[in-house]
Amino acid sequence: MVKALAFTMEPGLVAELASHTRRLAGEAVLVAPKEAASKAPAGVYTKAYILEAGDPAAFAAALEKVYNEYKPDIVLTIASKNNTTAAALLAAKLRLPMLTEALEPRIEGSTLTAKRRVLGGRAEASYRAQLPAVLSLARGAAEPLQEAGGVEAQPLEAPQPRVTLLESKEKVREAVNLEEAEIVVGVGRGFRSREDLKLAEELAQLLGGVVGASRPIVADYGWLSEDRWIGISGKKIRPKLYIAIGISGAPQHMAAAMDSKIIVAVNKDKNAPIFQYADYGVVADLYQFLPVLIKKLRERLNR
Ligand SMILES: Cc1cc2nc3c(=O)[nH]c(=O)nc-3n(C[C@H](O)[C@H](O)[C@H](O)COP(=O)(O)OP(=O)(O)OC[C@H]3O[C@@H](n4cnc5c(N)ncnc54)[C@H](O)[C@@H]3O)c2cc1C
Repeated sequence: MVKALAFTMEPGLVAELASHTRRLAGEAVLVAPKEAASKAPAGVYTKAYILEAGDPAAFAAALEKVYNEYKPDIVLTIASKNNTTAAALLAAKLRLPMLTEALEPRIEGSTLTAKRRVLGGRAEASYRAQLPAVLSLARGAAEPLQEAGGVEAQPLEAPQPRVTLLESKEKVREAVNLEEAEIVVGVGRGFRSREDLKLAEELAQLLGGVVGASRPIVADYGWLSEDRWIGISGKKIRPKLYIAIGISGAPQHMAAAMDSKIIVAVNKDKNAPIFQYADYGVVADLYQFLPVLIKKLRERLNR
């Protein structure tokens, strides 16, 4: 029977984690902040520990104590910045193999196998590791388990973090939630000025969507805020429709847009890599195409 130590520093991922834990393990304990630990389903976990999220290094040190007592075959988490950092620190400390952004994990005997998207999502690689191992699962790969509560949760003491947080200030944000948006209009270096982005903003508004951007638009030109950044170093999107305009389709951008249901690309270069990902491609100059598209949409929507 596989024994798992499941953990999450992000309370919002606890139901998804429970779903994977139930499938992979015969017996498991959970370590999570109170809000999540109190929801640990009894059908999945025998015990829950409350550990407030803070510094991933301190979280990993507390996990190590549970690991040494419980001796699990596998440590499970769902990929997020903090979770993966804590998992990596734990794996390094315990000298365990670790698979990240894992999909379709399986355990047979003492062997763990999983897949992972590589080359910006254009290929899938398969991996194998011997248990005990640490597994950081790709987000969104399992239906969250909607069974709540039943396990008594006890506090776990975290060691003093070696880094002390002195102050944190909230970033100035625009009211945009790219990750949840159903329609995203992406803008790239095909736009010649900040002023010209109005075309994309108008299109997004007509469609009820939001504007996102490739890295240069945010990081190099500063035309839009970081909330709009799509890519491995920005936000991951999963809209029903992604319209990428003047974006070449670099792997670092597309890796975070691949899960869009429908991808439409507008690019004047017919050989642009984005067309390999697009469901619909428009080879056109955006300055000619967008005004026509906007006009037609206005006529259609009567606006
Ligand atoms: C470690 C690392 C991390 C990175 N992380 C990210 C990330 O998170 N997100 C990200 O986006 N990038 C990221 N990048 C950068 C990435 O590699 C690309 O450089 C970037 O995505 C390119 O942005 P772009 O498509 O807007 O620009 P370009 O590659 O310059 O493409 C512009 C496109 O616009 C087209 N075009 C030009 N004029 C017009 C016109 N008038 N009408 C229609 N089409 C036109 C061109 O044909 C071209 O295909 C990262 C790179 C590295 C090394």
